[in-house]
Amino acid sequence: MTTRRIHTSNGDLPPLSLPPGALAKTDQRHRYDVGDEPPAIEPIEHRIRLDFMAGSPIRRSHLLDQHNPWTTDPGESGPDPWREVGRSKPAGLLYAEASCRRTLAEERRYYDRFEANHSADLDDIPAFLAHRLEVCRNAENPNAALKDEQARRERWYSTIIPWMNLYHVLKRSSYGSLLPPSVRNAADIDALTEQNAFVGMIVVNDGADIRAVAQEYGVPGRFVVHESDLSLNTVECAPLPSDFGIDLPAPLLVGEYASGSRYPLLPWSDGLVCSCPYKHDRPWRVLCKHELLAAVVASGEDSIFLPVTQGLDIPHRARRFVSPAIASRHTPQAESKTHR
Ligand SMILES: [Zn+2]
Repeated sequence: MTTRRIHTSNGDLPPLSLPPGALAKTDQRHRYDVGDEPPAIEPIEHRIRLDFMAGSPIRRSHLLDQHNPWTTDPGESGPDPWREVGRSKPAGLLYAEASCRRTLAEERRYYDRFEANHSADLDDIPAFLAHRLEVCRNAENPNAALKDEQARRERWYSTIIPWMNLYHVLKRSSYGSLLPPSVRNAADIDALTEQNAFVGMIVVNDGADIRAVAQEYGVPGRFVVHESDLSLNTVECAPLPSDFGIDLPAPLLVGEYASGSRYPLLPWSDGLVCSCPYKHDRPWRVLCKHELLAAVVASGEDSIFLPVTQGLDIPHRARRFVSPAIASRHTPQAESKTHR
């Protein structure tokens, strides 16, 4: 399964062995199967991260006390939970909502092309949508199937992503659990990384002898971990690095969070994906609280690479949070009122 081996600059850690699904789409060796592999990081996910990186850090006063995405549907124009409680929406969220609208509009060209020619090339289309268009192609009535698909995608961008995912993450009980209690308003990045850590570790197979691995690479044993000791491994939907086809031992970035859990950030789809159960329980979720924290910390570094705040000096690829190709093309912006 390994397609690329990346060695650390000083060569004293095991190489990072990446599967084809972790490579950039433009890489000739990129391969990805929607049916068999974990969800790809969609272009909108990379954009939303860049949006939160461009917005100022999230303050506790920005967060919602209550929001139940399952019981209330916002409807066409939808109530704004921030306006309802008299708080201002974080800038990153305004950018992210604008990105959803822009991406939805940009994707219209894919449907037009498909409608004009059902056997049109799908190579440049985001992986999940390309897969759904394949399904439409084989449907009894491809144009009707296409309309359904378009409506479904529209609902994802306009309701599911903001209302059911981003608003939920921006709650005191969600992202708020990662903020230091002492910091009420200022979201000081140093305080965030004192409370939460991004730790460079060697993740090993469950059968491996930690002490022997630590000795082999000359590293402290506390920075070597069995993959199933990464927390909540009993939750079925929390995937392990090996579920992504990453060969072990692997030098990876492990998030250790103020909320008491720790999850590795796995190289995937040209960026990193958090392996927590919230993210993987529902494939339509594009952001978890850990990824939001990572975006805020990366913005403090002014970089698409996350810092190693403790532990081993892992390869850059294990810290690259956002696809460089998407980062070079995306400009976070909130739409002006005249364009709404
Ligand atoms: Zn997470």
